[in-house]
Amino acid sequence: MTDSLTSFLASKLAERKEAHLYRRRLCLDSPQGPEVSEGGRRLVNFCSNDYLSPAAHPKLQEAFSQAASQYGFGSGASHLVCGHSAPHQQLEEALAAFTGRARALVFSSGYSANLGVITSFLGRADAIFEDRLNHASLIDGGLLSGAAFERFKHNDVGDLTARLAKSTARYKLVAVDGVFSMDGDRAPLVELAELSRAHNAWLMVDDAHGFGVLGPNGGGSTESAGLTAQDVPIYMGTLGKALGCAGAFIAGSEDLIECLIQLARSYIYTTALPPALAAATCAALALVQQEPERRQRLRGHIAHFTAGAKARNLSLAPSQTAIQPLILGDNARALAWQQALAARGFWVGAIRPPTVPVGSARLRITLTAGHSRSQIESLLDALAELAHSEAPWI
Ligand SMILES: *Cc1c(COP(=O)(O)O)cnc(C)c1O
Repeated sequence: MTDSLTSFLASKLAERKEAHLYRRRLCLDSPQGPEVSEGGRRLVNFCSNDYLSPAAHPKLQEAFSQAASQYGFGSGASHLVCGHSAPHQQLEEALAAFTGRARALVFSSGYSANLGVITSFLGRADAIFEDRLNHASLIDGGLLSGAAFERFKHNDVGDLTARLAKSTARYKLVAVDGVFSMDGDRAPLVELAELSRAHNAWLMVDDAHGFGVLGPNGGGSTESAGLTAQDVPIYMGTLGKALGCAGAFIAGSEDLIECLIQLARSYIYTTALPPALAAATCAALALVQQEPERRQRLRGHIAHFTAGAKARNLSLAPSQTAIQPLILGDNARALAWQQALAARGFWVGAIRPPTVPVGSARLRITLTAGHSRSQIESLLDALAELAHSEAPWI
């Protein structure tokens, strides 16, 4: 290692520590679930995106092992070389049917799905319009595409309207999170669909936190808003959150998917997911469809949690989804709350910049169908106790 590299690395790390931005990973020695174990310590888990709690479900394990005995583990290559197999194909067909689209294409991650769509469809003559609070992968895709980048104020249809009206770009793409990942609020999709149509812009919804959870059938933000494939021609969902597996997909028209297969570099130049994982994901999708009670239970938990927070004077950010942020502002304060909760047996993520804007560090509390009422009550009590103990300087 050269001296300049050594000192560069040391100063980068020191900077992060100084700003209370240093990240540490928890190493679990249990399956993912409402309660996890780390180094023998039990923690009630309020930070996973396993909203419907299928991540450790026996039906997924069974589908995985059965497919592994038939297809082995590795896919061997990218989809276009020789890595595409029957379980991938079945998963794509099931996702297309479930989302009411002609086709779906499975990517290895949501990050690569977003990069793939945006960089395939847009170039220097074009413009992308993104909500300020969009997920990093949508932002990075926009930057990488070389298109003119317009970030509009969060959920501000007026700001977007003015920007669209001024644009002289060849093609215009409006991209938003269906449910904002760190805030839990939802994009005004009905208005955005209307506006996009009026300005001849293409609407893309990243439904990482809506797919499987929202809508009567779990069809996501678009189903819950009553929007069709014409309204939202580019729909993205992830498979690692409510479905408890890994990967992501884009759903849309026949030509949209064919174009991605031809053009999306993040699809073409990467190894296909293991076929057994695709089989487990099919089982997860079936579970989400066959057990609507998981969504009902989650909805009940959300109502219970928000009412309980109100009764205890905890000022949560306005959210009706499984993501319930408690904004604390200062990075050190968010970390102190996280540590105090961990000492009481709760695991809640302290989310800090650049994931969220500077000065809006927060606890990102997530609820899942697998939690019990008493776990939620205990968390509320612990939060109220922490708020009370620091009351003089709030
Ligand atoms: C998690 C997430 C992604 C990335 O999905 P991965 O499959 O984890 O790469 C994209 N968009 C949003 C809004 C997300 O929350």
